[in-house]
Amino acid sequence: MLPIMNSILTQTDDFVGAGSAEVPWPEALRKAVREVEVLAEVLRLPQAWIDQARRAARQFPLLVPWEFVRRIRPADPHDPLLRQVLPIGDELIPEPGYSSDPLGELQRCRAPGLLQKYAGRALIVTTGACAIHCRYCFRRHFPYHDLAAARRHWPVILEELASDASIDEVILSGGDPLVLPDAWLREWVEALGRIPHLARLRLHTRLPVVIPQRVTQELIDWLRGTRLTPLVVVHVNHPQELDETCCTALTKLVDSGIPVLNQAVLLRGVNDSADVLEELCRRLANLRVLPYYLHQLDPVQGAHHFAVPVQVGIEIVSRLRERLPGYAVPRLVVEEPGQPAKRLLAG
Ligand SMILES: *Cc1c(COP(=O)(O)O)cnc(C)c1O
Ligand code: SF4
Repeated sequence: MLPIMNSILTQTDDFVGAGSAEVPWPEALRKAVREVEVLAEVLRLPQAWIDQARRAARQFPLLVPWEFVRRIRPADPHDPLLRQVLPIGDELIPEPGYSSDPLGELQRCRAPGLLQKYAGRALIVTTGACAIHCRYCFRRHFPYHDLAAARRHWPVILEELASDASIDEVILSGGDPLVLPDAWLREWVEALGRIPHLARLRLHTRLPVVIPQRVTQELIDWLRGTRLTPLVVVHVNHPQELDETCCTALTKLVDSGIPVLNQAVLLRGVNDSADVLEELCRRLANLRVLPYYLHQLDPVQGAHHFAVPVQVGIEIVSRLRERLPGYAVPRLVVEEPGQPAKRLLAG
């Protein structure tokens, strides 16, 4: 048997047991699907999709945890969750106006791994790694390995933050900060807590959604144990992502007293419909997770097939305003390089 077939079978055999809450999160991260063939096999994808996926994955590799794969409907190439993770041929078609650093982030570094675009908030690129590769991600071309904050950069970052009393909030981002071990994160957070003018600590993470067992007691302990006010911003785009394990993880965070907000990206073929977003926002509100932002897609090369015209987004958000309580309507925003805030389009 070819080695590749071997690995497909091994991983497929694991499929039933994989993605259950009993698999410790580091193992779930390690065992995430990285091969197009494996995904194609378990989800019974047509050959034409497999061929293009292989080509597009060379530019930005496939990565999707089993916990997320379990929420995808088999044999449906148009499934809204699959569409977020499956490489497709459209990614390889260059599109004018789409670039590899659409937000000009490379110019916003105050120290290696420390970005500041907006008053009062500084963002630490804690790692270049994620638990899932979202095909529309504006960071798909980001030179993480140069810019993520290596441990040797921590002192410089802390010094830079300590020297600027106008900063009162630190955002741990990435990549995804929660792919890092709790011991590291606890160390980061303790050091940040010693900077007197910092008041709030925000995490931007997709882990509680894609590998829900990442929300461990240890995580809650260091988040609650800091003097800083913690907030967690998760990333759910479609109600089908909110399966039972994900809801349990989000509830655990909220129950521990941490405000949880959601940001979504408006994506063609995923959530560009008032009905889908209404259901998403309603279910989030029921979970006490507040819909915060709905992002207009950043013009990143390889993601233009996800673009939704601005007018359509504005129209969808007006529908949401008619159907939902005000607090459950996300703000539709777009990031424009050099602006003092994300620009509000509707909401
Ligand atoms: C989006 C973003 C923030 C946070 O902006 P809020 O409007 O406060 O959510 C902060 N820093 C950077 C670099 C960002 O991209
Ligand atoms: S940074 Fe966020 S959106 Fe981008 S690939 Fe990682 S998890 Fe997905």
